[in-house]
Amino acid sequence: MTIEVHTLDDGAWISVNNERRISVSQLWRLATHDFCPCEEADVLVEAFREVGVSYPDIEARIVGECIGCGTDGVTGWVVVGRAIDGEFYSVVPESVHFPG
Ligand SMILES: [Zn+2]
Repeated sequence: MTIEVHTLDDGAWISVNNERRISVSQLWRLATHDFCPCEEADVLVEAFREVGVSYPDIEARIVGECIGCGTDGVTGWVVVGRAIDGEFYSVVPESVHFPG
């Protein structure tokens, strides 16, 4: 099974198997990160910088702003979904993520 992942519209979307699946303007809560001084960063997504597959995880580096402290930046790799038998399952953005 292969899964094809890329960004569209200058990073406004993550496309999986040619379907738009994840969009910007969502909050992603990050723990164990070095994005900003907050213990848990609430990052409002402005763009997806890069996407990649570390099977079965689909990962992205997020460009955004922490709404807690205002820090702008790019996150480490965050798991945004999983590929299981060629199907894509998104994670819940508001759950807590642990960037690698
Ligand atoms: Zn912060």
